[in-house]
Amino acid sequence: MYIPDIELHDAATLEEAGAVLARYGPNARLLAGGTDLLVDLKTGRIRVDHLVSIKRIDALHGISKENGDLHVGALTTITQLGGSPIVRERFSPLLDATSKMAAPQIRNVATVGGNIASAVPCADLPPILTAMNAAVTLWSADGVRDVPLAEFFVGPRETVRQETEILTTVHVPQPPPGFGAAYARFGLRDGNTIAVAAIAASLLLKSDGTVRDARIVLGAVAPIPKLIAAAGSKLIGQPASADAFRAAAEVAGSAAEPISDIRGSADFRRELVGTLTLRALTTACRRAKEVQ
Ligand SMILES: Cc1cc2nc3c(=O)[nH]c(=O)nc-3n(C[C@H](O)[C@H](O)[C@H](O)COP(=O)(O)OP(=O)(O)OC[C@H]3O[C@@H](n4cnc5c(N)ncnc54)[C@H](O)[C@@H]3O)c2cc1C
Repeated sequence: MYIPDIELHDAATLEEAGAVLARYGPNARLLAGGTDLLVDLKTGRIRVDHLVSIKRIDALHGISKENGDLHVGALTTITQLGGSPIVRERFSPLLDATSKMAAPQIRNVATVGGNIASAVPCADLPPILTAMNAAVTLWSADGVRDVPLAEFFVGPRETVRQETEILTTVHVPQPPPGFGAAYARFGLRDGNTIAVAAIAASLLLKSDGTVRDARIVLGAVAPIPKLIAAAGSKLIGQPASADAFRAAAEVAGSAAEPISDIRGSADFRRELVGTLTLRALTTACRRAKEVQ
């Protein structure tokens, strides 16, 4: 498999990258770490004549904390995200995903922005980021807009991002006291395998232990990383108990739209949704109680 002849544009600013995207439209793609895109070019899933490398754009690098919220530049690698002291201290549920993704060699080049923008249904960061109420910033020469991640994905490999927009930053709000989140994923082996099914869950507990808010997000078992509002609603006002978690897991299971493929049947995946939802909610609950 060879990559066909392609013109590579090396952008140093958002404006330069945006100008190439505007000039070539669907015949151009942004290139970040290339771990998704180069595979797609080699297999012919994507055919373009122009790639725009965004690696040199300073505005896309860096992790910071602003007013308690986490800001992650799109070019942050998975290794950098997992190693960030800010993430490890206050946003540690993200480590459930960064530690399981791919293998160290891939994590060293794969970027956070690419993991989100490629919109592959089994991508690991979108579910936990959605459970943590994250949003992305999209830049274009016409303006900048923030989109909650729960509204970003519209189908497999399809998002609300316009052709000329560049994903610049991911924002995760400061977790309030009583908030806990977790990501539970099943893969066929421990390393370098994509998720067969995954669930992210978050809980916001009141001081009496009842649930104030809950989010349950499907990964790899629906066309998009899907927030199941009905599963979260099932928990609101209830004591955070195993019985309540089981009821929510049932709702999540019936909302899943799994496919059958070489990694597992649809029935097996639906079964996994129940188990992983219970697992994610139980861990999220324990974490929420640690920061009451
Ligand atoms: C062997 C292997 C194992 C893998 N295992 C996993 C796994 O376990 N879990 C998982 O989630 N993923 C896995 N992946 C997929 C991949 O590594 C990730 O999705 C990665 O995070 C993509 O980031 P990237 O920087 O390489 O994106 P690229 O390949 O450079 O880009 C991907 C897509 O996003 C677009 N894009 C990139 N950056 C931006 C931006 N800032 N704004 C707008 N559009 C942008 C590109 O144009 C392209 O369409 C694996 C890949 C390989 C090759």
